[in-house]
Amino acid sequence: MKNIEDLLQQEHFSRQDLIQLLQTDIIDRNKIYAKAAEIKTKYVGNKVYYRGLVEFSNKCIKDCYYCGIRASNSNTVRYDLSDESVLYAVKYAYENNYASVVFQSGERQDKAFVKRITNLLRESKKVTNNEIGITISLGEQSREVYQEWFDAGAHRYLLRIESSNRELFEQIHPKNERHLFETRMKALYDLQDIGYQTGSGVMIGLPFQTVEHLADDLLFFKNFGIDMVGMGPYVEHSQTPLYRFQNQLLPQVERFNLTLKMIALLRIIMKDINIAAATALQAIDKAGREKALKVGANIIMPNITPTENRSNYLLYENKPCIDESADDCSHCLEARIHLAGDSVGYNEWGDSWHYKKRVI
Ligand code: SAH
Ligand code: SF4
Repeated sequence: MKNIEDLLQQEHFSRQDLIQLLQTDIIDRNKIYAKAAEIKTKYVGNKVYYRGLVEFSNKCIKDCYYCGIRASNSNTVRYDLSDESVLYAVKYAYENNYASVVFQSGERQDKAFVKRITNLLRESKKVTNNEIGITISLGEQSREVYQEWFDAGAHRYLLRIESSNRELFEQIHPKNERHLFETRMKALYDLQDIGYQTGSGVMIGLPFQTVEHLADDLLFFKNFGIDMVGMGPYVEHSQTPLYRFQNQLLPQVERFNLTLKMIALLRIIMKDINIAAATALQAIDKAGREKALKVGANIIMPNITPTENRSNYLLYENKPCIDESADDCSHCLEARIHLAGDSVGYNEWGDSWHYKKRVI
């Protein structure tokens, strides 16, 4: 066991170092947080960038064992926003100086879907004077499709690896051709190769997950050279297959604390990336996202999905803000961000420095 102060002075961290840091008690945990805050201020500054999140459809062909909108959940009322509603949300973001949006949905790979997205990307640029930054999070697609969407105006992509450990990945997904670890990995490499700012992430506190897995996830992000990360606690959903392991889970507050530690450690080992304060943090602690900002996160994704559809995009239970309008959300958010000691980078894309250095 190393002394925590000495450990935090290191430039490089071994798997064993990360495991030790992930297991720290409350006193030492605060030292990790302080170090991460210092690094955040020095390398990415204290501006938080907004990405207005549009959850435009919950139709999904996949059956991930953890997710409330999985194809087999017949209790979910399926919806698809009209193009007009999506573009309305895009304009809302633009007019409120958010500078970027995220389009997220369940996964579909059919031609109509692909074309629709291509069209929405082009239209979103058109209605915002070509200025809006667009992140997409639409699951696994062929390289050609990723390229088509890149050419149509998307420049960041979020695809969580969920777990970088193949065995754990396989335990939380059905064993079939549609849910392959290799496909997920290849997709991430395709995205990076095409030129997207590539984002990934994991859920924290999954059944069967250990601190060793989490240390390996951190090293995976580092070795892959990821540009952005969104990590949140796993929040159980009663209409999913993983729910039957709920008795084996860490209590929610511990999952939450472990997530903060993961964020802080990631900031320490990857100083210049963008790290999102995931919405799932707020499902456990009302001030969850602000707490994440204090320990290294610098991106927030305010939900700008029209309110009437929010209650059907329930990946997990206790999802926050499902009955507030976009406006209510953005006002409460800015005040909370100030409380966390940060300011909002309005009208700025806030691209990942890691990406900018990588592509020079
Ligand atoms: N269909 C796309 C995007 C929507 S899902 C995709 O899967 O990439 C976005 C993320 O929600 C997933 O990557 C997963 O990490 C997260 N998620 C799903 N179910 C969750 C749960 N029960 N608790 C916490 N996060 C969950
Ligand atoms: Fe579909 Fe994404 Fe949920 Fe998996 S995590 S079931 S791909 S929405």
